[in-house]
Amino acid sequence: MSDTINQASRKGFLVDTARCIGCRSCQVACKQWNKLDADKTANQGTFENPRDLTAALYNRIKFVEKENAGAVTWQFFSERCMHCGDAGCMKVCPSPGALYRTKDGIVAYNKEKCISCKYCVSACPFGVPRYDGDEKVSKCNLCLSRVDGGMAPACAKACPTETLKFGNRKDLIAKATAAKKTLYGLDSLNGLGVVYALEGPPDSYGLPANPRIPTSIFLWKDIIKPLGILGFWGSIGAMLLHYVTIGPKKVDDDTGDKGENHE
Ligand code: SF4
Ligand code: SF4
Ligand code: SF4
Repeated sequence: MSDTINQASRKGFLVDTARCIGCRSCQVACKQWNKLDADKTANQGTFENPRDLTAALYNRIKFVEKENAGAVTWQFFSERCMHCGDAGCMKVCPSPGALYRTKDGIVAYNKEKCISCKYCVSACPFGVPRYDGDEKVSKCNLCLSRVDGGMAPACAKACPTETLKFGNRKDLIAKATAAKKTLYGLDSLNGLGVVYALEGPPDSYGLPANPRIPTSIFLWKDIIKPLGILGFWGSIGAMLLHYVTIGPKKVDDDTGDKGENHE
């Protein structure tokens, strides 16, 4: 499947981390709109909860906690699918239509076409895809039905501080650049659909400085997989050629053997 993006009309998020107050309305709104079950969690000595994305948690607020002279400081970070312009999950998926690009540049999925191979997990530079109880891929789809209906995603609608701004990606970037924000995700992986204004280096939020799709994925997709397919059709072709030029194998009338030598 081709994966082209119209960068002029592409939609996306601008996440301004400086504005986030850690209220987690975005988490709740996402669960409500997408009818996702609550995850059972346990207190682990931090206000961060839950501690990871799950098949029923498409975005979560990561608490970056630091101690400074006996006082704790927090930075909040909205963790979610980045809707990469060059999406490792789509690149490696062997089932056409299971993961696909919408006209707005969103990386969406169709659970009915997911074959539970889990290749997308190893191909995602951000460790996003999760699998539900039916072993089908599950992640943020940017509230596709809302966006198609001209509405903002549920998380952006619920955010009281405008940390999550949704709209034309180019326009959001232009405004943030004019405001002299330090942006993450502008160009990497053909531009992320979720661009962050950060207040520190990417690694302090757990983000890779230069996100890349693992090269082993290209080895599998571009070399090993095509060779495997070539080998399969090559064997079929060789059998057909043998049948046409030499004819079918004959069964030995006396022994019932199929032409093998017996001493
Ligand atoms: S963040 Fe991961 S799951 Fe989301 S589009 Fe990129 S590669 Fe796919
Ligand atoms: S865009 Fe929709 S699906 Fe994605 S995190 Fe926000 S509310 Fe959830
Ligand atoms: S709703 Fe907005 S302010 Fe509240 S945690 Fe989510 S991103 Fe932060």
